[in-house]
Amino acid sequence: MWSCSSAQHSPRSKPCAEYLSPEATRVLDRLGLLPRIDAFGPARLTGMRIVGPSGKDFVGHFRGEHGFRPYSDYGLALPRDVLDTLIAEAAAARGAQLREGVLADIRTVSPDYVEVTVNGARSAEVVRARLVVAADGLNSRIARRSGLSRRHSLRRLALVTHAVDVTGMGDVGEMHVSKFGYVGLATIGHGVTNVAIVVDLDRRDQRAVPEQWFAELLTGFPEVAGRMEKARLVTPVRAVGPFGPMDDTRYLRPGPAGG
Ligand SMILES: Cc1cc2nc3c(=O)[nH]c(=O)nc-3n(C[C@H](O)[C@H](O)[C@H](O)COP(=O)(O)OP(=O)(O)OC[C@H]3O[C@@H](n4cnc5c(N)ncnc54)[C@H](O)[C@@H]3O)c2cc1C
Repeated sequence: MWSCSSAQHSPRSKPCAEYLSPEATRVLDRLGLLPRIDAFGPARLTGMRIVGPSGKDFVGHFRGEHGFRPYSDYGLALPRDVLDTLIAEAAAARGAQLREGVLADIRTVSPDYVEVTVNGARSAEVVRARLVVAADGLNSRIARRSGLSRRHSLRRLALVTHAVDVTGMGDVGEMHVSKFGYVGLATIGHGVTNVAIVVDLDRRDQRAVPEQWFAELLTGFPEVAGRMEKARLVTPVRAVGPFGPMDDTRYLRPGPAGG
């Protein structure tokens, strides 16, 4: 087993709402990771609250009168740097070789194998594999160069941060929708709330620093803005995008050249 984790070094922060559905718990359980995740003290979210542009809301629970019984009654939420490190350690414990600070790229797609170049500051190697998973992010170079990604017309940007002292946080994740985007709130344990604002790309302000832009956009979500009046941001505001729906099929199997 071989894994090229990143052009960066771990642990690294990643703009993400950091919430895992109950179905993800099944996978983490199968990998034997739940005790280590539990030891961190993640949040357990029992459902989602959706708030519309008019302020009207509803709450849906994973386990409810609808009769559906999820794998667990809650979804886990925890910082990505913690989760990603635990997953990488588990992979390494099972024999994966981890290369960090390297750049991976597609070299050859043949009927029998895929070749990937892996270049570091002082290293260069070619890895031949039967299956390549392009987990290299939103603008996956490997997916793009292999013709596996499809761009849609929807173009959005996200601004993500961690805050403490957000009032009214409970055991459900929240999505507040406006006409130009939405803001997601989720407690991720230890009194910290993940706040992710997603807006249309044409709302970007290249002059503003992310923190200032974040504060301006928040005023478009009156309930959240009120609940964050006394909140303190404990990580930088990280921006990511542009993004839209992307083809999820980022697996590269040997096949006809170029396919
Ligand atoms: C605003 C927002 C909120 C989200 N919320 C959630 C959520 O709540 N729950 C959820 O499950 N998902 C969420 N997602 C989606 C989730 O963050 C991504 O789908 C997931 O992280 C993608 O995983 P990935 O491994 O492809 O990329 P990433 O996690 O982005 O990791 C890519 C890694 O590849 C490295 N890399 C890039 N190019 C190369 C290269 N050429 N060679 C080597 N390494 C390279 C990067 O440095 C990085 O370390 C959210 C995404 C956004 C934008």
